[in-house]
Amino acid sequence: MKAEKGEIIGLSENRHAPGAARAGLGAESTRRLFMNATVNENCIGCGLCAGTCPVCFTMGDDGLAHGGEIPENQLASAQEARDGCPVSAISIG
Ligand code: SF4
Repeated sequence: MKAEKGEIIGLSENRHAPGAARAGLGAESTRRLFMNATVNENCIGCGLCAGTCPVCFTMGDDGLAHGGEIPENQLASAQEARDGCPVSAISIG
């Protein structure tokens, strides 16, 4: 199976360590590609992204938003935050 950027391969699809998830062997034994949310210098600190997807975005002491790794179950929420940002400061990739 060939993975495209951003595609998340389910734990059961791991040919290299079948049963790894059930055995609790950890992330290093599974094949996954993570996506990240980044915030650029256009951020005006409105807080919309952190309110929409608090798992992926936090407001820093600088008054600006900061992104991070996007868990697979938060991707839609992170995209909603990106799309709602009034200054288009958020990138997901
Ligand atoms: S929604 Fe956009 S402008 Fe508002 S805090 Fe988040 S990144 Fe900054």
